[in-house]
Amino acid sequence: MKVVLLAHTPDPEGVVYAAARGCYSDLPSYEIRDRGVELPTAKKFIRGIIKSGHESVLEHVSFTFSVEGISRACSHQLVRHRVASYSQQSQRYVDFGDEESIIRDMFVIPPAIDDDFYSEEILADTLRICLLNYKELVRRLISIGRTSEQAHEDARYLLPNAAKTNITVTMNAREIRHFINQRECKRAQWEIRDLASAMLIICLGVSEDLFWDSGASCRRGPCKEGKMTCGDPYPMISLV
Ligand SMILES: Cc1cc2nc3c(=O)[nH]c(=O)nc-3n(C[C@H](O)[C@H](O)[C@H](O)COP(=O)(O)OP(=O)(O)OC[C@H]3O[C@@H](n4cnc5c(N)ncnc54)[C@H](O)[C@@H]3O)c2cc1C
Repeated sequence: MKVVLLAHTPDPEGVVYAAARGCYSDLPSYEIRDRGVELPTAKKFIRGIIKSGHESVLEHVSFTFSVEGISRACSHQLVRHRVASYSQQSQRYVDFGDEESIIRDMFVIPPAIDDDFYSEEILADTLRICLLNYKELVRRLISIGRTSEQAHEDARYLLPNAAKTNITVTMNAREIRHFINQRECKRAQWEIRDLASAMLIICLGVSEDLFWDSGASCRRGPCKEGKMTCGDPYPMISLV
């Protein structure tokens, strides 16, 4: 998996600060921005707003990520997050490998399967057959008069959840925090957890003040999973 930040709202803290301050000021937010503010004041104010749960101001800032080489199993979980925009590689227009393709280039192999010789053999054999039959089905459907697009859209029914995909995701900062809260949790599936962790590192690199307290719920207090807890919490974040 590779996660690259394509773009983000310029000056994210400045936008959040101006929008939030504008709620308590007779000035419009552009004037608040133009007047500028001391960094420590803005920092304290933004963190205070987040701590108090007034997170709607975070919706003015968005981040766009290019995500490469996740499984369809992972992308399916990702797109369950509705407050976001997605553009995903098409299985109708993009041909999925061929007989020569290397299984690892085309499919995501879960580490636990990869670590066990026999499990890896089962998976690799199955994926090889899927790939061969996929290709054969494309050829066959075209030979009986289907267009390439029609052939690919039907042949893809053979592709398993392990099939790699690329997807572009745009989320606002509030949704990113929510996504990371749910998906960095150790009870989340390993691949989407890796994605959430990668996004968190990127977001912290852009703006510590918007994301300093982000992460699974156990980073801020008791686990919210109740009886289902993994019992292995992350280190706590200092919320001061
Ligand atoms: C560990 C784990 C296991 C899971 N297992 C399953 C499973 O077995 N089966 C399954 O189907 N799903 C499962 N899910 C997915 C889960 O149920 C959610 O669909 C997914 O996590 C998206 O979360 P969300 O709805 O809170 O957030 P988003 O869609 O990201 O929305 C963000 C927030 O916006 C608000 N919102 C969005 N849409 C609406 C709306 N229509 N009405 C009101 N408020 C809205 C809510 O406050 C929501 O929390 C699992 C998730 C996790 C983390």
